[in-house]
Formats: sequence, structure tokens, C-alpha cells
Amino acid sequence: MTATPQIVLRPKKDESIKRFHPWVFSGAVAQKPANLREGDVVRVVAHEGGFLGVGHYQIGSIAVRILSFSDEGIDTDFFEKRLSAAYSLRLALGLVNPMNNTYRLVHGEGDGLPGLIIDMYGNTAVVQAHSVGMHEAKGQLLDALRKVMPGDMLQNVYYKSEGTLPFKADISPEDDYLLGGKNAEAIAVENGLKFRIDWRKGQKTGFFIDQRNNRRLLESLSPNRRVLNLFSYTGGFSVYALRGGAQSVHSVDSSAKAVMLAEENVRLNFGEEPRHAACADDAFRFLKQAQPGAYDLIVLDPPAFAKHREAINNALQGYKKLNLAALQKIAPGGLLFTFSCSQVISREQFRLAVFSAAAISGRNVRILHQLTQPDDHPINIFHPEGEYLKGLVLYVE
Ligand code: SAH
Repeated sequence: MTATPQIVLRPKKDESIKRFHPWVFSGAVAQKPANLREGDVVRVVAHEGGFLGVGHYQIGSIAVRILSFSDEGIDTDFFEKRLSAAYSLRLALGLVNPMNNTYRLVHGEGDGLPGLIIDMYGNTAVVQAHSVGMHEAKGQLLDALRKVMPGDMLQNVYYKSEGTLPFKADISPEDDYLLGGKNAEAIAVENGLKFRIDWRKGQKTGFFIDQRNNRRLLESLSPNRRVLNLFSYTGGFSVYALRGGAQSVHSVDSSAKAVMLAEENVRLNFGEEPRHAACADDAFRFLKQAQPGAYDLIVLDPPAFAKHREAINNALQGYKKLNLAALQKIAPGGLLFTFSCSQVISREQFRLAVFSAAAISGRNVRILHQLTQPDDHPINIFHPEGEYLKGLVLYVE
């Protein structure tokens, strides 16, 4: 313990940490040891000297990600405690069973582990480090994970952090698997539906688990509707719509590979399915040439239009334009599922963008549902930044 390096904050810069916000911004730091390395575990103390928290140090605007507000060591036992709490919560939520083996095990700050994401696909864990500290702790994390999860629940651990670390990490392809083999392949089961997951080449950890509940809602509203799923990726919403009894489902994604994935997932669940068609196209262009009234249910689930604060205004324009195009084409009595996963855009800002689109469209639009991220993406109440997924279900007359 005594060897843990220490960071001293500037006067009055301890307020947010005292309210358990897990980030210490670089501007709050008064003193740090000269030999401090990125990824080091540091103790953070107030200007007057009182202990505040212990966390991972990193160069950048967030200087420390607090792992614990108690003065404790950050070691395998610590990670075991946090992972065990995370796993117990998912078990208690009923997310771990033969009908559903796809869930987020660790959602960063929401599980008291800033900088770490772990998604489970059957007995494969995909681990993603977003901080240097978590990258360096990967051996401890693996040991802890193996202690927490029964052996048959954890056969493969794939480490996917090349794209999420602040530097080009030297992760050799041989090290991709912290545990398990190259030939591992997961068919994930979500609410009884099957999806092939390509965690190696797929976006994020291979699948968007955060739409599970919203897909289920869409399923219940699909009977006899003509569904258009824009930004379809693995075809999650399409597969649910088909099971729900949609009359037809069209999946559109600009990536030809994503289109193939959606087709494969439809086949995996329904065999040759004449109600489904998929095409590689730009969503804006597709909507432009679509016949007015051709669809009774449209899904808009685009990638984050804004990744940084500077991009907010353009992103809001993008959401407005996209929603307007869909509102102009949807059949009377249609349902629009519209989402934003941009963390820097607030629920109110998104709603205002959709509101503007509704006003311009001249259609009578009512909000039926306000959607968010599911229970395995919990939001630390002291860290509101953890809320990112926003959705509306609109009834369009
Ligand atoms: N709805 C999906 C997730 C969408 S991720 C799900 O439930 O899993 C966003 C997708 O949008 C990606 O697959 C990406 O290829 C696609 N995309 C990005 N820009 C696009 C555009 N202009 N037109 C159509 N698809 C686009």
C-alpha cells in the first residue's frame, strides 16, 4: 500500500470526487510523482491531505478513473469482488439461461470498473479495455474472471482493445485470446433468437446487446406490418420483427458485410424466409427513393452521429434530417422507432431534433414509448455520463 503513488488535488477540486463521481480531470491535479506512468494505480488525496479514492492514472483530460473510494489495493481480489457483484446482478436479472446467453457482464462505471467492458456471448467473454490501467490489468482480470464464472460458462476470453485504447497497443494476434482457442465461434442466443457473432471483425464487441429490450418491444408491435430496418447491422431488429409476424422486413445497411450478416442471421432462425430482403445502401438515399406509404414500421438506429462535444450541432442536424426523411415516407398509422447512441447528446436534445423533424413533416406525431439502455448497462447514479442510448417510438398519423 505504502508504495502506491499519490496524486494531490488542487484546493476545492475534491467536490465531485466526494460526490462519488469516478473521474478526476487533469485540471484538478496539483501534484503527481515525476515517474508516474500511464496505467499506474494511484491514490488520490485532497489538497489538505485526506484520502479520496484509488484509481488508474492516464495522460489526457481524464487523469484518474477512480476504482474505489475506499483505501484498498487494486489486485486480483479487488477485481474478483467487482466481477462477482456484476455477475450476480446479471444472474438476478434472469439474463443467464439457455434462452438468453448474451449480456453485458461489465458496463464500465456502471459496474464500478471504469475503463472496462465485458460482453458475454454464450461461454465467450469479449473483453474491451478503454484505459491503459485496465489494459495492464488484463492478466488479473482474467484470473478474477475465472474465479467468478464456472468453467463451463467461460471457455474463451477474447481481448479486443486495439480500437479502444488511447495508444496503438502492442497486442499481437497470438495474444488475442487470453483464454481458449482460435476456432471459437459463438452463436449467441438472445430472447430465444440466434445470432452468429464475429467478435474479431465485428463492430464493438460483435453485437449490439443494448437493444435487447427495444427489439422485444418491436417484436410485439410487428404483426402484419411492413417493416424497414435501417442501419440493420446484424439484423437484430429484423429477426425479431420476423418472429413477431411482420408481413415483410427489409434490412438496409451501407456495409455489404453487415447485409450478409443480417441475411445469415435470418437463415439461422427461419431458414429460407421469403418475407425478408436485405440490401447494401445508404439509409438517406434509400429513404429518398422509397415509395411514400411503403412501410408501416421503420427503425432508425444509426451509429453515433456525435462522438465529441464539437460535433453536437452537426449531429443534431443529421438526426433531424434522417427522422424527417422517415416521417415523410412512413404509412399513415405507422410506427417509427428512432434512436441515438451518442453519449454527448442529451435525451432532450435528441427529442428536440425529432420534434423539429415532426413539425416540418406536417404529420401528426405522438410519442408512445421513450426507450433507453437495458438493465445490464446500468448507470452509476453519480456518473450520469453513463446514460447514452435514447429512443422514441412515434405513432405517425
Ligand atoms: N441496429 C443495429 C446496430 C446498428 S450499428 C443493431 O440492432 O444491431 C450502425 C450500422 O449503421 C452499422 O452497421 C453501419 O454499417 C451502418 N451505417 C453507417 N452509416 C450508414 C448509412 N449512411 N447508411 C446505412 N447504414 C449505415
